[in-house]
Amino acid sequence: MLSVDEALKKILQQVKPTEICERVSIDKAIGLILAEDQYSAIDVPPADNSAMDGYALNTNALSEDENTSLAVSQTITAGDIALPLANNTAARIFTGAEIPEGADAVVMQEQCERNQDKVSVPKLVSPGNNIRRRGQDIKSNSRILSKGRRLQAQDCGLLASIGLTTVPVFRRLRVAILSTGDELVEPGQELKKGQIYNSNRYLLKGLLTQLGWDIDDFGVIGDNLDETKACLEKATTADCIISTGGVSVGEEDYIKQAVTELGDLALWRIALKPGKPLAFGHIKHTPFFGLPGNPVSTFLTFLLFVKPFLTVLQGQHYKPAEMMSYRANFSNKANPKRQEYIRVSINYNEGSVDKFSNQSSGVLSSVVQSDAFAVIPVNTTIAIGDEINIIPFNHFLNRD
Ligand code: AMP
Ligand code: MG
Repeated sequence: MLSVDEALKKILQQVKPTEICERVSIDKAIGLILAEDQYSAIDVPPADNSAMDGYALNTNALSEDENTSLAVSQTITAGDIALPLANNTAARIFTGAEIPEGADAVVMQEQCERNQDKVSVPKLVSPGNNIRRRGQDIKSNSRILSKGRRLQAQDCGLLASIGLTTVPVFRRLRVAILSTGDELVEPGQELKKGQIYNSNRYLLKGLLTQLGWDIDDFGVIGDNLDETKACLEKATTADCIISTGGVSVGEEDYIKQAVTELGDLALWRIALKPGKPLAFGHIKHTPFFGLPGNPVSTFLTFLLFVKPFLTVLQGQHYKPAEMMSYRANFSNKANPKRQEYIRVSINYNEGSVDKFSNQSSGVLSSVVQSDAFAVIPVNTTIAIGDEINIIPFNHFLNRD
């Protein structure tokens, strides 16, 4: 059996990140991956400006021992073009307005006393006081964002602050999904004897949507070789194909044979519970994942293997999901062969976690009523009170 880390390493070694770029407007760029480093052509702010509503002056005009009264020679609001400051005067100035030539400080209005066309200013004002320097945010020619970054709201704001309207991004991936199983029926249809509703299809669609990828949905295919092959061939127009079910070694499991006949496939047994069987390969040049059919296994193997693969395929830098340490409110027998991902709910106040009562890989409620996977390494006994590592589902579902 392969360890989880070994399997992930093998998978990531085979990613060829997309190179297909397009320019999108900065208000459509959120969640997309930057395809080129971005440099600023300007200083931000473009000129020294006031951090306060107050009075701009030259500190040389102030007495060191007492308040100084200065004539108010001009008013500068944000957006105005300032005149040079006349000697021994102050300019009424507002936040964001450009500092006039000849001024070296702003005194906030609360510290001044205005008397008609004069203002009394306190002593001991330092040069530079309340001035936001030209380029203090961004210097001209400096790099503001790096290729491979997933653009967030604040990035779009920053791009706007240097005056850009569009950015080059990698085209959003399109991921094909298909569910295998003669027993599956769609929600909304009558459930006949022997049938179950297809939950994986909606689980996978939800995961892909939440993570920002487009979906080519091929629906359900029955357990038969010809149908499986025909559907997989059609799905090769996508950037990646994901199937669920049919990767065990039962005689009704056709994924292995179908993919092997159309391309190449490795069928791995991973030292992982839930989710031992995992198929990975290519159909023509399209990467393919065959996930196990039990819904919790589908969920976990998607998060552990498919999400990192798609992240790198999309041109983004990959960061593993962040683990946290919590105290176990449960005991757990060592598993001699497989790393276990136990569904737990978090008691934030106590810093502890409870184990969900039914850990079967078919019990989807376990990932709805829990908050996290506790990661229990191979051969590790857990006693009540032990510190264990957990990965909250929302850490797994974060792409930033
Ligand atoms: P398989 O890997 O095809 O042997 O499926 C393993 C288990 O997962 C079986 O109990 C299937 O009925 C169940 N299963 C497979 N696909 C789905 C699906 N799309 N939705 C819900 N359960 C499924
Ligand atoms: Mg099946």
